[in-house]
Amino acid sequence: MSSSIFPFIVINAISGVLTLILFLYAIFKKETFSFKPAFLSMIGMAVIYIFGHVFELASRSLEEAVFWVKFQYLGLAFVAPTSLIVVMHYAGLEKYLTRKHLFLIYTIPVITLILCWTNEFHRLFYHSVHLHPHTSAHLIDFEVGPWYIVHGCFTFGSLFVGIIVLLWYFRQTKSVYWRQISILLLAFVLPVLASFLYLMGYSPYGMDPVPSVMCITSLLYFSAIVSTRFFKLAPVARNHIFESMLDGVLVLNRSLQIIDYNGSAKLVFNQLNPTSMGKPIEEIWAVELVQKISDINGKHEVEWASDNQKHYHVKMTPLMKRDQTMVVGYTIVFRDITNQKQIEERLKELAYMDGLTGIFNRTHFLEKSEEQFVQAIQSGEDLSLIIFDIDHFKKVNDTHGHMTGDLAICHVVEIGKSGLPTDSIFGRFGGEEFIVCLPGMNMSEAGKIAETIRLCFETRPMVTGTFSHTITASFGVAQLNPGVDTLTTLIQRADQALYHSKENGRNQVTTDWEQGRISRPG
Ligand code: GH3
Ligand code: MG
Ligand code: MG
Repeated sequence: MSSSIFPFIVINAISGVLTLILFLYAIFKKETFSFKPAFLSMIGMAVIYIFGHVFELASRSLEEAVFWVKFQYLGLAFVAPTSLIVVMHYAGLEKYLTRKHLFLIYTIPVITLILCWTNEFHRLFYHSVHLHPHTSAHLIDFEVGPWYIVHGCFTFGSLFVGIIVLLWYFRQTKSVYWRQISILLLAFVLPVLASFLYLMGYSPYGMDPVPSVMCITSLLYFSAIVSTRFFKLAPVARNHIFESMLDGVLVLNRSLQIIDYNGSAKLVFNQLNPTSMGKPIEEIWAVELVQKISDINGKHEVEWASDNQKHYHVKMTPLMKRDQTMVVGYTIVFRDITNQKQIEERLKELAYMDGLTGIFNRTHFLEKSEEQFVQAIQSGEDLSLIIFDIDHFKKVNDTHGHMTGDLAICHVVEIGKSGLPTDSIFGRFGGEEFIVCLPGMNMSEAGKIAETIRLCFETRPMVTGTFSHTITASFGVAQLNPGVDTLTTLIQRADQALYHSKENGRNQVTTDWEQGRISRPG
C-alpha cells in the first residue's frame, strides 16, 4: 500500500464506519416510518460502496483491486435510484412508486451490475482497466465503455431528479420543515458535486471522492434524524395526516385541475388514479358544485349525495400564497356523513311516524292536516275527513292476545293505505282509531272511499298461520264547512258520525249526521 494514499484510505474508512453506524442506528431506532426500508437500503448500499472503495485503495494487485471494484458496484449501482425513492417517499410522492415504475428504475442498475461483473467478456462497462501510472499504489485507472456512460447518466439523472423533487417540496412546505429539507438537499448535492469533479478529472490520483464525501452526507443524515426528528416529522407531514385521514381530500390548482388526492378520496371517487393528476376536476365531479362552493363570498360548504347513496359534507378551502396575496389552489375535503344522515332520517321518522304501523302519528297528522285545511279555506276547495275505529277490538286482544291485536292493527292500516288516494293524509289517531284527511274531496266522495275500505275489511280477513279473523270497523265522515269549521270542530263532527256508526250496529259508514245528511251506505 502506498503511503501517499494512506490518508485517503483513513478518511474513506471513517466515512464507511460512520455510515455503518448510521445504518445500525436507523435499524434499531424504535420509530417506524413508511419509507424506513427504502432509507435502510440507501444507507446499506452506501456502506457496501464505501467499504468496497476502501479495500480497492488498500489492494496489493490489479486483480484484487478489480475484485473490490466489482464488490463496490453491489452498492454503487443502486445508491442513486434508491436515494431518489427515499426522496419520493419523503415528499409524499409514493403513489408514483408503482411496481412498474420500480421495475423500470432498477432495470439499469441491475444491467450495470451484470455488465460490471462480466466486463472481461465484452468490455461494455470498462473498455480497459489498468493501474494508475502516477502512483505506486494499486489504484485502478480505466477507459470507460458505452454502458459506463449509461450508468453515469442514470446516476446523475436520479440524483438531479431527487434534487428537483426536494426543491419542489421545499416550495410547498411550511417553514417548520425547511431546515430538514435543506439538510437533505445538501446530502444530495454534495455527492453530485464530488462526482462531477471526479469526472472532470479534478480528484487526486483520479480517485473517486464520493465515498469520502459520504462521511459528511452520513453526518447530515444523523443531524436530520436527531435534531429535526426526520423520522417523525416527515411521516407526520404527509403520510400520517394526509394519507390516513378518514376524510377524502382533493387538492386542486387555481385552474381546478387535480394536483393531489389521498387514499380516502379514492373511496369517494373510484375512478381516481395517478393518471388523474393534472386532469380537470369535472372529469370526476360536477363542476357546478365546485363553482358553487368555490364562490368566495359563500360558505364554501355543501352537502352532496353520491351515486352510491353516500352522503358527504364537502368543504372547500382556498390555498393562499405564502404571503397571503393570492389564491394558488384549493383543497376539497369530503366528510362521509352517511351514518349521521341515516340517524337524522330515523329520528325524523320517529318524530313523525307511529312506531307500530309506520303511518303518521297523531301530532304529525294534525300538523299536515292543518296545512291542507288552511289551503282549502283559502282556495275554496273541498276537504273531508274520515275517522274509523276497529269494532270490538278488545275482544281480539282478549281472545288472541295483544300480539295478534298488534297484527290486526297493521292489517287494518295496510288495507286502509291501499284504498286511499295518494294525496290523502293517513294517521293513527289513538289505539285502534285511525283518521284520514282527504284534500279536494267532498263528503260523498269521501263516503265512497270509506265504504270501499270497509268492504275490503270484510272481504280480506286477517290471516296469521292457520288462524283467520275478519276484522270490521266503523266509519265517520265529515266535510269542511268553510267559515264555520276549525280543524278541531271538523274532527269532532267526523267523530260524532263514527259514534253514530257504533251506536247503529258497527261495521258501517256514517256521514256528517249533525248536518242532517246521515247516510248509511253499509
Ligand atoms: P268498539 O267496537 O266499541 O270500538 O269496541 P272496542 O273493544 O274496539 O273498544 P275499546 O275502545 O273499548 O277497546 C280498544 C282496545 O284497543 C283497548 C286497548 O287495549 C286496545 N289497544 C289500544 N292500542 C293497542 C295496541 O297498540 N295494540 C293492541 N294489541 N291493542 C291496543
Ligand atoms: Mg274499537
Ligand atoms: Mg277505540
